[in-house]
Amino acid sequence: MTITYEVGAGLYVNVTNRCTNSCDFCVRSVVDGTYGELWLEREPTREEIFNSILSRELGRYSEVVFCGYGEPTERIDDVLWVAEELKKVSDIPVRINTNGHANLIAGRDVTPELAGRIDCVSVSLNTSNAEDYVKICHPVFGEEAFDGLLDFAEKAGKYVPEVLLSVVKGSIPDSELEECKKLAADRNIKLKIREYIT
Ligand code: SF4
Repeated sequence: MTITYEVGAGLYVNVTNRCTNSCDFCVRSVVDGTYGELWLEREPTREEIFNSILSRELGRYSEVVFCGYGEPTERIDDVLWVAEELKKVSDIPVRINTNGHANLIAGRDVTPELAGRIDCVSVSLNTSNAEDYVKICHPVFGEEAFDGLLDFAEKAGKYVPEVLLSVVKGSIPDSELEECKKLAADRNIKLKIREYIT
């Protein structure tokens, strides 16, 4: 079972394969086995996650990233527990890559709980409006998901040093990209235009 893995200089953490989206471009839809090692036969316990991180030489990495092969905030309580324990033994920065549905999943505003535990939150925006988001990402929350992720990102900014909204380069037309920039700027959030990782 692969709980931690390396991407560039980061140590990535795989806590769940569950997700509240079913994006058309998701690597989970690749069925040729390319990403097979990241399928979890069962979800690791919070202690197993923490021990897997500690088994690594943390000085080799620039950050720990809860990312997974699913949506890490499906297990927000466990992610925050691991982050808190990690902060007790290391000053390595901790990031969550997320679809931004944490508050919708938990049914409460979890953003105050990020304080002191999480250093960066990167929220996938993917598109500039709720209608297209539903078409591309197929969220279980329907159109509510889009406003929900924007609201989450805005609130997280009060408690986390760095919050980003992200879109994938070339995945949307330039006109939509401008809309995304405006959505981010209106909320005083940085927009990251990232490369698609194959
Ligand atoms: S939000 Fe991420 S993990 Fe979930 S379906 Fe979309 S790309 Fe896959």
